[in-house]
Amino acid sequence: MSSLAAGSLSVWLSARIVDRTNSRKEHVRKKMSEQNSRKKDNLLHNTKLYIDILSTQWPIVYSPDYNISFLGLEKLHPFDSGKWGKIVYFLKEEKMINDESIVKAQEAQEDDLLVVHSKRYLNKLKWSFIVATITEILPVAFLPNFIIQRKVLRPFRTQTGGTIMAGKLAIDRGWAINVGGGFHHCSSEQGGGFCAYADITLAIKFLFERVEAVSTAMIIDLDAHQGNGHERDFMDDNRVYIMDVFNRYIYPGDGFAKRAIKWKIELDWDTEDSEYLQKVETLMSKALQEVTPDIIVYNAGTDILDGDQLGGLAISPQGIIKRDQAVFEAAQKHKIPILMVTSGGYQRSTARIIADSILNLHRLQLIDQRVL
Ligand SMILES: [Zn+2]
Repeated sequence: MSSLAAGSLSVWLSARIVDRTNSRKEHVRKKMSEQNSRKKDNLLHNTKLYIDILSTQWPIVYSPDYNISFLGLEKLHPFDSGKWGKIVYFLKEEKMINDESIVKAQEAQEDDLLVVHSKRYLNKLKWSFIVATITEILPVAFLPNFIIQRKVLRPFRTQTGGTIMAGKLAIDRGWAINVGGGFHHCSSEQGGGFCAYADITLAIKFLFERVEAVSTAMIIDLDAHQGNGHERDFMDDNRVYIMDVFNRYIYPGDGFAKRAIKWKIELDWDTEDSEYLQKVETLMSKALQEVTPDIIVYNAGTDILDGDQLGGLAISPQGIIKRDQAVFEAAQKHKIPILMVTSGGYQRSTARIIADSILNLHRLQLIDQRVL
């Protein structure tokens, strides 16, 4: 190619890039003004997910419907698909909560899901083989879809409802924990990696649409995997700041989605506590020096735990507890409401570690009845 041709090509290309950037900005601006006018005109759909709770209740959201268990299929999967129930069992055993003081999650209905997902995507979940691919439970492909809806997708929809509910409660009470959720590989148009609904995107969009005081959010994603779902959803949305710390060598390796990450650390195999905690704390304090969001959504995956076949890192149970503590301390220091979801990590010991971590947050008064 002649240098003249190369020159005009590069001029044409940069014009195209500017065009595309401008039209993307225009698209985001249009979407934001649509949302504002929906808010103003009160055109939001009725949802059962935004409820007020009693002052005697903890903003800890859970339902027994979270747990996936049927036909012994759960044994074919490397995941402990009953971990959510075990976390609550341990918290009850330690007398931190009881059936009355916990908030019962409601299933997200189609209207709720449509705040982020397209009808086209939701219709795709009516095909068992698609759900089998998303959940990585292959026998699911051979089951009639009504069973899949009830036994697999309903638990996910209830956990998704739980994240949306916890978003509101975090604003009301300064903090909230969804015992499940954290499906950070699912974007508005695509599921994957055990994630069928984009609960993090949904929780944030609900807040933007319904809560006047929330117009910016920070996602702190500390699961071992990259959170490509919310990253794709918020790619061009400058109201959402994303921090992601993950193993650089594992799923999903989504180079396109990485462009949405504002603060990123890509870890090596078998990273241990001291290096991990030092990196996370330094990055978090840098991020919170740069911006003060209206809410932090903390994706607290525990697949960073030593021995996790999928995560490939080597963090101890104590390291996980210290990590969660550091995130809540940072939120408290900056007076930012925080919503925690539990995300990945399905070893047999995981539920006990998550419960211990929540108990530790309580002991340190990082979670209590405080009002910001
Ligand atoms: Zn993960």
